[in-house]
Amino acid sequence: MNKELELWEQVKEMLKASNDEATFNQTFAPITEIYKVQNNVIYLIVNNSLDIFRLKRFYLVKMNELLSQIAGESMSFGFISKAEAEEQLKSQQKETVIPTVVPTIIKKRNLRAEYTFSNFITGEANREAFTFSVKVAESPHVTINPFYIFGDVGLGKTHLMTAIGHYILENNPNTNIVYTTAQQFVEDFYKAKNKNQKNTAFADEFDNYYRSADLFLVDDIQYLADRQGSQDEFFKLFEYLFENNKQIIVTSDRPANELNIMARLKSRFSWGMQTDIKKPNQLLREAILRGKLKFLISDTDEVPANVITYIAENFDENVRDLEGALRRFISYCVSFNIDFNYDNAVLALDAIISTSKSSSNNNTKLHIEKIKEIIAAYFNINVKDLASPSRKQEFVYARQLTVYILKTKYNQTLTAIGSALGGRDHATISHAFEKIQEAIKTDSNIKEDVDNLISNLDKQYKI
Ligand code: ADP
Ligand code: MG
Repeated sequence: MNKELELWEQVKEMLKASNDEATFNQTFAPITEIYKVQNNVIYLIVNNSLDIFRLKRFYLVKMNELLSQIAGESMSFGFISKAEAEEQLKSQQKETVIPTVVPTIIKKRNLRAEYTFSNFITGEANREAFTFSVKVAESPHVTINPFYIFGDVGLGKTHLMTAIGHYILENNPNTNIVYTTAQQFVEDFYKAKNKNQKNTAFADEFDNYYRSADLFLVDDIQYLADRQGSQDEFFKLFEYLFENNKQIIVTSDRPANELNIMARLKSRFSWGMQTDIKKPNQLLREAILRGKLKFLISDTDEVPANVITYIAENFDENVRDLEGALRRFISYCVSFNIDFNYDNAVLALDAIISTSKSSSNNNTKLHIEKIKEIIAAYFNINVKDLASPSRKQEFVYARQLTVYILKTKYNQTLTAIGSALGGRDHATISHAFEKIQEAIKTDSNIKEDVDNLISNLDKQYKI
């Protein structure tokens, strides 16, 4: 049944990519066991019959679809509740002898299937890290060892490190890859040490497991800070693997010299190569979104460019949140059976944009209203006309100047301006902006209006 468990783990990884974190953690993560495989049906053990109902109703079709991608059409999933499974097992136990299971402290941790080089989008922020990663993957332990990748959370460190693993494994399927987070390493170490007092098998298992690595991947090494015992153990392991020409890759939220760990370990990390991943710019964020889209829907053209621009403009801190926003948008539209358009993106994401951004963003919303009032007063029109669909010449002109001022003086994004002006799309706003930008160079009346508006705003409105 190991093969089937492996299949389920793979499907689970794919479900992880296509569901938001809460759904995944609640619905799929707890399923870790198979009850039986019969007539090509893999029976998963779930908590209770309510879960069975939910899974069948909402997810089974998708699960089977994913399974068929990796295992062929004939396989499918079924469910059994824990209670039911135990019941059945008890009755069988009378006849069969269940082999005793040797408890182990370390479960093998797999690489996430979708974290490959081909799924990693490169741009200015990560090109160097990507290039070195490919180098390491092409010739492990030869050129760059250890390889140290650092950067803020959610920028792709784990993804890149995992991609190296996949690449090496593809070229050499016998490579033994040990992936661990530093946190897991610490936990394993404590378990091994404590259990060790009674039974040396656990300490041996710890050593055997970690020392067997041909490729050792350690995620979030900063977690070793202030844990002296684990650092000592890690140092020994590092020396052992390094001396045996094994490739070591480490990720961290900061450069090695800023780690709160013992000096000799820090100095080991600087033997090889350190590279960092920076925050992606708008261009890269848009490219990443387009890359992720193909995992979520079949026809990616259904999502217009202004939606991608909007999401990329509003989620600029890290790629994980960017991806989360895209998922939320897609599942929102799918759930309500509505188009993947700009207005629906605003509907789906507005709430998380205003909560995730600092209060300054909320203030900005108020500011825009105030600014609009001052501009409308200058043109002697109603503030509503700035956001109305009316094409009346005077409104159009006032609107264009509002765009220009919001962009140049207040540094607002085109999408934010669009939404402040009645939900106009990115292209319209961009066009208005360019028009004024050009006209101002030759038309002194326009220049005068802009100057007057700016001086009014400076007088009547303080940020
Ligand atoms: P970190 O380890 O730096 O916290 P992760 O590697 O977990 O970040 O990345 C967070 C999410 O963002 C993952 O789903 C990852 O696939 C995605 N991601 C980050 N950078 C990129 C990129 N350049 N191209 C595609 N996906 C990316
Ligand atoms: Mg990570």
